[in-house]
Amino acid sequence: MNDPVLIVGGGIGGLTAALALQRQGVRVEVFEQATRIGDVGAGISLGPTASRGLYSLGLEASLRATADTPRPSAALHFQTREVLGGSFADRDWRALDQSMNHHIHRADLYELLTAAVRAQDADAIHLDHVFLDFSEDRDGVTAEFANGRRLRGCALIGCDGIRSTVRARLWGSEDPRFTGWVVYRFLVPMERAQPYMSTAGTFVGPGRSLLRYTVRHGSLVNCVTFVRSETLRGEGWSQRASTEELLALFPDWHPDVRGLAANAPFDGTAKWALYDRDPLPAWTRGRTTLLGDAAHPMLPFLGLGAATTIEDAVVLGRAFGEAAAVGSETWTQDCLRCYERARLPRANTLLLESRHQGQIFDDGPDGERRPLMSWEERNHYDPATASLA
Ligand SMILES: Cc1cc2nc3c(=O)[nH]c(=O)nc-3n(C[C@H](O)[C@H](O)[C@H](O)COP(=O)(O)OP(=O)(O)OC[C@H]3O[C@@H](n4cnc5c(N)ncnc54)[C@H](O)[C@@H]3O)c2cc1C
Repeated sequence: MNDPVLIVGGGIGGLTAALALQRQGVRVEVFEQATRIGDVGAGISLGPTASRGLYSLGLEASLRATADTPRPSAALHFQTREVLGGSFADRDWRALDQSMNHHIHRADLYELLTAAVRAQDADAIHLDHVFLDFSEDRDGVTAEFANGRRLRGCALIGCDGIRSTVRARLWGSEDPRFTGWVVYRFLVPMERAQPYMSTAGTFVGPGRSLLRYTVRHGSLVNCVTFVRSETLRGEGWSQRASTEELLALFPDWHPDVRGLAANAPFDGTAKWALYDRDPLPAWTRGRTTLLGDAAHPMLPFLGLGAATTIEDAVVLGRAFGEAAAVGSETWTQDCLRCYERARLPRANTLLLESRHQGQIFDDGPDGERRPLMSWEERNHYDPATASLA
């Protein structure tokens, strides 16, 4: 295998996949459309499966040094701050080893991954490369970019997010559906947030909730709220909300919620409309496959999108590392098929589970949860050792 694996997209999926493949001795080239790596998003929560995956790629020390460890949390009534029972109670927290959970600023996670990929190969990441199309022949794939470059690889991995061009080329283009949900996120410096942080937990009320956790060693409080809105459209953090708009979301909510909203930085609140897609029955065709949001865009109600993406990447690396008959005519295709077989059922179930959780948010504190996957199956999975059979 002399040609590299071509990776489209330099997000969490593309960078983690690059590192996982590099660590198996596979040469990779990552193509990112932006002129710099990273996005302006705020915090991200990484659960135990993501942690196991990143640790297996040699990132345990840097992750622990950079990320915050969550405090045990609970679901709180939106007005009284009482701990809620039933489906919203975070009753599984005690069963979780908290040292396996991390809250990290997205920019810091990108930084960590980029440094690790570049440490393996300083020239592996190509910025300002908008992927357009690909063609495949008997010996490999050729990817075409908007800047006129055409590059040859042994395989192509589409890690280009919910509006993936690779996915559209493989399976046809179909616009994702607007869910009617909008996410607001804002970061409050701890010196201003402190008075409103005496209780850890997520405030849950009918039609919305406010999740809070710290990043950057407790110096910032990351706040995320999911709100029903039939009007807002568009993706990305580029749409801004004023403090007044934010406060209007929580007219009769607990003073802790209103206090945090009132202290959101001026013009620092971003809005993101949430879109959904149905699970795909297959990701791979020939030498091309999908990974992360391109394969299974996941609504963020369970905070599992990046974790599932990291799981994919680690398994993809192992599929290349453990494949038999290296150099055989169908070796690359065998690796991709092995990856898909090992990952697709779990990822699609988590996609449906995340959608289901949104429905429960809609129902309010009394909604009942009927999980499609047990808590153990969700959290005990280890992408570094899971069966590839
Ligand atoms: C509000 C919100 C909160 C979330 N919170 C969490 C959380 O707490 N925990 C968690 O696990 N998950 C969370 N997620 C989900 C998580 O962010 C995603 O699942 C994850 O970022 C997916 O990574 P990705 O690399 O597959 O896609 P993306 O992050 O979308 O990256 C795709 C990359 O491909 C590039 N690209 C796109 N098209 C092209 C092209 N044609 N050519 C070249 N490059 C291209 C893009 O510029 C981008 O860099 C959240 C999501 C949202 C919306």
